[in-house]
Amino acid sequence: MSQLLEVSGVSVTFDGFRAINNLSFSIGEAELRAIIGPNGAGKTTFMDIVTGKTKPDEGRVLWGEKSQNLLRMNEAQIARIGIGRKFQRPTVFEDQSVAENLMMALRADRGPWSVLFWRPSRGDHFKVEALASQVGLGDQLARKSGELSHGQKQWLEIGMLLAQEPKLLLVDEPAAGMTLAEREQTTALLVELAKTRAVVVVEHDMDFVRRLGCKVTVLHEGSVLAEGSLDHVTANRQVIEVYLGR
Ligand code: ADP
Repeated sequence: MSQLLEVSGVSVTFDGFRAINNLSFSIGEAELRAIIGPNGAGKTTFMDIVTGKTKPDEGRVLWGEKSQNLLRMNEAQIARIGIGRKFQRPTVFEDQSVAENLMMALRADRGPWSVLFWRPSRGDHFKVEALASQVGLGDQLARKSGELSHGQKQWLEIGMLLAQEPKLLLVDEPAAGMTLAEREQTTALLVELAKTRAVVVVEHDMDFVRRLGCKVTVLHEGSVLAEGSLDHVTANRQVIEVYLGR
């Protein structure tokens, strides 16, 4: 499997504090990966680097077959190249319907002038329906987003990100605040999405990570402490000491 994203030897210092320390990470084109680690391990800063929000002091971040240098791109260019990020709190437009939210996400893809000139085509309506079914909201198209459950809002936001057709999706704590049934559906959704794109999930909930059944990267003090299956990393003594606090 060819690598989609290759981060190597990256470091970030905030006011003399090394939040990311010589970190290397790579992910393939259709791969699901969980990133775990205690608070302050550097998970958010790592995602900020990949999305261009934070520029590292040193290291390389390369993208795709042509090894494009992401460090030379700004956040908007990185989003356009195919990296989508979902934050923990959903930011859907609550007074708009599911279909309207998805349509807005499609329109956002057409550039700033689309607000004035763009009218949705039949194809766009089909696309909205397809996106809604993809995230389990096919029967909720007309529903106001504000009336959706917490889990459904999260899925809607994933659907909105999918409108941009990302090749890499970064998802921050998707299971937080979800019911058991929603968590199971979210697991299935992320596993399905990772069949055709790379998906990185930052998650605290070990039970959820186990359900994902994917390779796990453990961050600690801004570096990769261990990598492998969940059973492999949780058997690592250093991981037990620093992460589980035993
Ligand atoms: P995590 O997401 O794993 O909890 P973070 O990436 O948020 O970790 O933070 C890593 C470390 O960097 C923490 O010690 C945090 O306090 C520090 N840090 C993060 N952002 C900043 C910032 N803008 N200025 C100073 N320190 C920061």
